[in-house]
Amino acid sequence: MFDKILIANRGDIACRVIRSAQKLGVETVAVYSDADLRSVHVAMADHAVRLGPAPVAESYLRGDLIIQAALDTGAKAIHPGYGFLSENPEFVEAVEAAGLVFIGPSAEAIRAMGLKDAAKDLMTKAGVPVVPGYQGKNQDADHLAAEAEKIGYPVLIKAVAGGGGKGMRLVESAAGFSEALASAQAEAKTAFGNANVLIEKYITSPRHIEVQVFGDGTNAVHLFERDCSLQRRHQKVIEEAPAPGMTADVRAAMGDAAVRAAKAIGYAGAGTIEFIVDGSDGLRADGFWFMEMNTRLQVEHPVTEAITGVDLVDWQLQVAAGSPLPASQADLEISGHAFEARLYAEDVPKGFLPATGRLDHLAFPASARIDSGVQTGSEISPWYDPMIAKVTVHGPDRETALRRLSDALAKTEVAGLVTNLGFLQRLATHPDFAAGKVDTGLIARAGDSLIAAPEATSSRLGWVAIVAAGLDTKDGAMQGFSLWQPLRRTVEIASDGETMEIVLQFDEADGIRAEIGENQHLYRRSQLGWVCNGTRCPLALRHGAFVTLFGAEPQQFEIPDSLARGSAGAGGDRVDAPMPGLVQDVVVQPGDTVSEGQRMVVLEAMKMEHVLRAPRDGVVATVAVAKGDQVVAGHVMVTLEDAA
Ligand code: ADP
Ligand code: ADP
Ligand code: MG
Repeated sequence: MFDKILIANRGDIACRVIRSAQKLGVETVAVYSDADLRSVHVAMADHAVRLGPAPVAESYLRGDLIIQAALDTGAKAIHPGYGFLSENPEFVEAVEAAGLVFIGPSAEAIRAMGLKDAAKDLMTKAGVPVVPGYQGKNQDADHLAAEAEKIGYPVLIKAVAGGGGKGMRLVESAAGFSEALASAQAEAKTAFGNANVLIEKYITSPRHIEVQVFGDGTNAVHLFERDCSLQRRHQKVIEEAPAPGMTADVRAAMGDAAVRAAKAIGYAGAGTIEFIVDGSDGLRADGFWFMEMNTRLQVEHPVTEAITGVDLVDWQLQVAAGSPLPASQADLEISGHAFEARLYAEDVPKGFLPATGRLDHLAFPASARIDSGVQTGSEISPWYDPMIAKVTVHGPDRETALRRLSDALAKTEVAGLVTNLGFLQRLATHPDFAAGKVDTGLIARAGDSLIAAPEATSSRLGWVAIVAAGLDTKDGAMQGFSLWQPLRRTVEIASDGETMEIVLQFDEADGIRAEIGENQHLYRRSQLGWVCNGTRCPLALRHGAFVTLFGAEPQQFEIPDSLARGSAGAGGDRVDAPMPGLVQDVVVQPGDTVSEGQRMVVLEAMKMEHVLRAPRDGVVATVAVAKGDQVVAGHVMVTLEDAA
């Protein structure tokens, strides 16, 4: 075994690899960009080497710097994680030329599977079923249109160099072909520097079922399948293993095909053979086709680890160090069922737009396996993948595992930025998903029922107001009220840019009565914590100018009042950014005379606009921001002085 390895990655996967290395007593070297100096993977590793500035082209994609870091620190091998350089054959060659070991397949194996057209040809030769289609060299538009006609609509146009769903277009009929072709080619050219496409039969009721393979260069085994059909725009959201409705026959056929594929390229290490499956009429041994091979560890590998008990990173290290496969096919068994949900900083209703910001709070239940590279206080920066964590659960059967997933997601607490947590919770309880009726169109069909958060009930709003006013804490209520004159106050809260006024009033029965428009609710403290109408109030956190409700349907509210006050620094002489964000507008300049409450800066944060106003009358002394600037929380944006 190596005594020291370098991990050429960041985030969840860097932490994941470090954990297994530590279990083996292997020393670890992390690499990082300037944006990641204070990140978890750097803290976890025994050594850390700076690569360069935040952009990936100057840091995590700088193979030369990474190799130099390994040589300088005495690391003997490099684990690439996923993404970044993990499927880059030139990097593998450079690593080997430097006398180091690449923890993964050979450069030739990666090359053989790197382009989808060549991979399909290779698989056909190895006797693996591939999706019927055209994957020839002739890229002439008329020729491709004629091939599409031959295949029969609907067809899928795919970039041969594609990945992450980019450069892919579904075409329903001949009328839409030429336009779809042009846009797929343009996207492929930009994303991959290669405009070539292939045309495939579009499988209706498609299910994405992939097989985990593992090779040592000569021999290969499979570790069963994962179903990754829950996708939005061809990207995986929740994955599970084994696949619902899988039979022993189909599993054997898919496993054999996958092992044949791995052996055909002398595969070493962990890899995934992705198949598209026709799910319209149950699973059939002749109803699956090779799509592509991912020559790396896969994001969703934890579900396989959960049902097999295998530590795939441990295996990767052993095989890379020269050991044969740690298990034979007969040793491998499936135990129970597992799900993984990908928690992202993203705005689901806004088309799954990636979000950025600071994690004011992050906590998970102990019942789930958590793979994460961030913690409370971490920033989700615009530079990298906005993944917060992968939440993996296991159970003796699918129904139990799915209940555990729902439960784990309801107990996941995240505050400070927009996430897909509510969406994941709704998905985990969707009736078709529960029934195992999964295909890649489920999310799109379910549409708004998954995307849109239900409107907050008035009892939740009243509770938010109580937390916003700080009356939920142990002695907050008593103190709050004894200090008030009279025992009644109005609290403003806002959600989705809409401000509401809620009147809170002390109630003799040692509770708080809230008036929310026409509705009234009484909140009391009980041994269970705060209750309203006989049910417990959800866990809530006040963080800066925000209140976040946890539990089912987590939601974040703004406290507009405290935002205005909180942004004014000591003595009201300055305006700080109350949270990280993007400066959208600056409407004052030095020398301007302003009066209290006047607009000064518009900040976009957490996908909302925040107007920052003058805390008092005065004259603008300095303006330290410009439109388009990204600011951190506490950044002094404008200072005031007294009129001369
Ligand atoms: P996969 O197909 O491995 O399940 P995706 O399709 O979601 O995963 O990933 C798209 C690409 O982005 C892959 O190349 C994957 O390796 C990479 N990727 C995803 N998440 C991360 C991450 N947290 N850090 C680095 N790369 C990532
Ligand atoms: P990428 O490299 O972007 O991951 P894939 O070839 O793996 O591209 O396809 C991504 C997704 O697109 C699949 O998971 C599946 O949902 C869908 N897909 C791909 N090929 C087909 C097909 N022939 N018919 C139906 N859906 C497909
Ligand atoms: Mg794929």
